[in-house]
Amino acid sequence: MHALYRVSSRISFRFFSNMAGQVKEYDYLVLGGGSGGVASARRAAEFGIKVACIESKKLGGTCVNVGCVPKKIMFHAASLAESLHDMKSYGFTIDGTPQFTWNTIKTSRDAYIQRLNGIYENLLKKSGVEYVQGWGTFTDDGCVDVDGQKYRGKHTMIAVGGKPTVPDIPGAEFGITSDGFFELSDLPKKTAVVGAGYIAVELAGIMSELGSDVSLFIRHDKALRNFDEMISDNVTDSMEKSGITIVRQSTSKKLEVATDGSLTYETTAGTFSGFNCVIWAIGREPLTKSIKLENIGVNVDKKGNIVVDKFQNTSAQNVYALGDVCGKALLTPVAVAAGRRLAHRLFDNKPDLKLDYEDIPTVVFSHPPIGTIGLTEAEANAKYGKDKVKTYKASFSSLYFSMTERKQLTLMKLICVLPEEKVVGLHMQGQGCDEILQGFSVAIKMGATKKDFDNTVAIHPTTSEELVTLR
Ligand code: FAD
Ligand code: NDP
Repeated sequence: MHALYRVSSRISFRFFSNMAGQVKEYDYLVLGGGSGGVASARRAAEFGIKVACIESKKLGGTCVNVGCVPKKIMFHAASLAESLHDMKSYGFTIDGTPQFTWNTIKTSRDAYIQRLNGIYENLLKKSGVEYVQGWGTFTDDGCVDVDGQKYRGKHTMIAVGGKPTVPDIPGAEFGITSDGFFELSDLPKKTAVVGAGYIAVELAGIMSELGSDVSLFIRHDKALRNFDEMISDNVTDSMEKSGITIVRQSTSKKLEVATDGSLTYETTAGTFSGFNCVIWAIGREPLTKSIKLENIGVNVDKKGNIVVDKFQNTSAQNVYALGDVCGKALLTPVAVAAGRRLAHRLFDNKPDLKLDYEDIPTVVFSHPPIGTIGLTEAEANAKYGKDKVKTYKASFSSLYFSMTERKQLTLMKLICVLPEEKVVGLHMQGQGCDEILQGFSVAIKMGATKKDFDNTVAIHPTTSEELVTLR
């Protein structure tokens, strides 16, 4: 028995050491199956090459699982809650108070996302991309190791994205991040949202519209303070008018659980108690710490973002990076566009193809939504000189609100550069501005002037017509 055991264990040892020695080879190896990774892998596979995509969690990444998609579903729920206030004005009779059950929408949302995960897996398969499930780290021979199996790409692309930042204060672990927001099975009665960027504004708006008593804690005086001043002023003002308490000049000091189980939040602006939920929304950081980039000589900056040139090349030969992990324009369409262009450059003989990071349109799904592209007025003044910059503004209440008790302003600003009045920036907040922006972005990207806007016949009655009738 003893001898037999020794023989078989020697055979199995040799078998496994051979397996471990076998490196799986690909033309294109993609680390990260989120927006950028999946888009790039699938596009590359169209060119008849051998591609693998490694994903440690769920396909679709941040956007599909804990970002754009579930967030937009909750934004729709919140927008419906907003519309309920207007129904009476439009002639509807609602018997009793409409009830909202958070868990109903959460359950259908989760099921939809699970379906999307499956769709992503099928799409990878159909495209001929091999899907590898597991956490990848770089080895010093230039491979990616996943659970002891090595994978090597002639070209390797890193799109591992990022994670929410949690402040380094006592008790931070009692708060949640945007990831935790999507796990909530009920709407907290009283919520503190900490931060002043996209996520803070969006989540504060959603929770407030759905009925939570929300306080937004910001370090300075305005939310979205890097946006055009008109937007940062208006978003801060409109949040306050909608019932959100804004606590300005508040830097986090401590979070504690009180005897009744509620949370007490200590800040430089005072101590605030009775919260059922505290959400940290203070930015995101790249997931580069534990993938052993040093083994392949990929440089990162002080924040850990991978440093790339205009073509997404890293400091290591034939290694590329894109999307959130590079820390620039953290948006799904940016990761997708960079990923697809890289695939064409590497495998479709388009050596000059790269993503142009200028004039990227972006929307904040606040209530009402914000749409913005190009330079802010301050940026345009700094770049061209104040005397060369001409702005056109509009502030109005759209037809929809002429019937309602609830009033809401729409604000628009067009920033032009003299002498030809080329449009270099467009900023707006109001009902529908999220959908209006895309078409105008095409015109701006093509170099439209104010005259081109003026030459376009308006569509009446709409909100967007104001943009072609500005004076
Ligand atoms: P990700 O989508 O984050 O994908 C990276 C993937 O890599 C992940 O799936 C991760 O599990 C995997 N991974 C990481 N490390 C490893 C490893 N070592 N091995 C294997 N796999 C690994 N953008 C918009 O354009 N519109 C929006 O409305 C919007 N809303 C958002 C709302 C929220 C709450 C958040 C957090 C983000 C939102 N974004 C939005 C941003 C958008 O989600 C990101 O810009 C986008 O997902 C970035 O894509 P990516 O491919 O770079 O990274
Ligand atoms: P953002 O970079 O948008 O905003 C974070 C903000 O939080 C900072 O601007 C800062 O504002 C504030 N902040 C930073 N550190 C602290 C701190 N220690 N305490 C308190 N406040 C702090 O990050 P988000 O996490 O909101 O979102 C990450 C990115 O994801 C966004 O930049 C965006 O690109 C993307 N995203 C896109 C969405 C969309 O397209 N609709 C939606 C959600 C996310 P200040 O300096 O004023 O204090």
